[in-house]
Amino acid sequence: MSPPDRQRAPVRRRTPKIGFVSLGCPKALVDSERILTTLRAEGYAVSPSYERAELVVVNTCGFIDAAIDESLETIGEALERNGRVIVTGCLGARPERILERHPHVLKVTGPHDYAAVLEAVHEHLPPQHDPFLDLLPPQGIRLTPPHYAYLKISEGCNNSCSFCIIPALRGKLASRRIDEVLAEAERLVSAGVKELLVISQDTSAYGADLRYQGAEWRGVGYRSRLIDLARALGTLGAWVRLHYVYPYPHVDEVIGLMAERRVLPYLDIPFQHGSPTVLKRMRRPAHAENVLERIGQWRRQCPDLTLRSTFIVGFPGETDAEFEELLKWLREAQLDRVGCFRYSPVEGAAANAIAAHVPAPVQEERYARFMECAAAISAERLRRRVGERLRVLVDTVDEDGAIARSEAEAPEIDGVVRIADAEGLAPGTWADVQVTSADTYDLHARLVER
Ligand code: SF4
Repeated sequence: MSPPDRQRAPVRRRTPKIGFVSLGCPKALVDSERILTTLRAEGYAVSPSYERAELVVVNTCGFIDAAIDESLETIGEALERNGRVIVTGCLGARPERILERHPHVLKVTGPHDYAAVLEAVHEHLPPQHDPFLDLLPPQGIRLTPPHYAYLKISEGCNNSCSFCIIPALRGKLASRRIDEVLAEAERLVSAGVKELLVISQDTSAYGADLRYQGAEWRGVGYRSRLIDLARALGTLGAWVRLHYVYPYPHVDEVIGLMAERRVLPYLDIPFQHGSPTVLKRMRRPAHAENVLERIGQWRRQCPDLTLRSTFIVGFPGETDAEFEELLKWLREAQLDRVGCFRYSPVEGAAANAIAAHVPAPVQEERYARFMECAAAISAERLRRRVGERLRVLVDTVDEDGAIARSEAEAPEIDGVVRIADAEGLAPGTWADVQVTSADTYDLHARLVER
């Protein structure tokens, strides 16, 4: 007679190990998180080193030439140190670029084609699933610290900005239904996430492809559109930060929710330029809107609104006068946080052929002048915050103190609040501070009793 099942020694299976490299923007990071979550659920372990992995997945970026070079170099490094490499992500939409330099990769799959990545992994390193050993947290695998998470609400984009090939790489706008997004947000908050960062290629377009389809969540009906999404996310008790919003008129509604602190009074709007003629050549969404007037209106409605943006200088055909127009626009707009890129041609982008390219030394000079102007605005706006009391979320703590952020700072891209006396603070905790001084991009603060 065979012994009862429960007396049998458990059979431990070999756990297949995957290495994973994630390059590119937060949207690519979310793709990586999804792939890793599925792989963990299937019983794969994630190896921190190339050498200990049995296969490496590289999630690439193909946005600008510098990102393509970085992706190709990373694939080369993974091949050299491991030898078995699957490539996915934006650059995967142009397999010929990868294969001409690295013909020995196992497979190339395109952006957000999760199924094809998993299929390739299964083919080259079959799963060894054991449901009793493979425990997966309900919120999935995340690559961000436990206290904040990116929430991707859609894929792709319906715009056709002349400098961008994302629509060709990632396809047309495909929004997730609102109840699906809210269920994910709820899972993240229950797992301890205190800040949700809403991302997509064009957050203001959310739901247009679904014709703003309705759905029920927690017994309440919502439509798949930005205002409903912001309103519902605002009930979860976490900070909600909106990224990649364009200044369309319907965005005004969201400012009301910001004034009521249902979502953070923070808008990340990639304006890219201040000259209407350049914006037209860029084929930017909402380029015909009077943005300065709209910014003024938003600030009247929500005085402590923080505005962050990115710009491109040296766009093909940009004249001295257009660049001066940009600087004038920036001085008037008084944006809080600003990033800037020198135009860099991306293979396949329409902008490459629309006008003569601005010579590199001129681009360099314009970049320096733009950043000088942006830095002066930033320093002055931060100086005005000295003395304010703020609630901050702590990101890191070490022997030099804590690095935290208030409502006005997004992780990774903005400045920070530095707290020297960090006793009792830990990453992911809240603190109340008073701003004691400011430099060009950061605030310095001390802890206060609440
Ligand atoms: S809005 Fe423009 S820049 Fe952004 S992804 Fe769409 S086409 Fe590219």
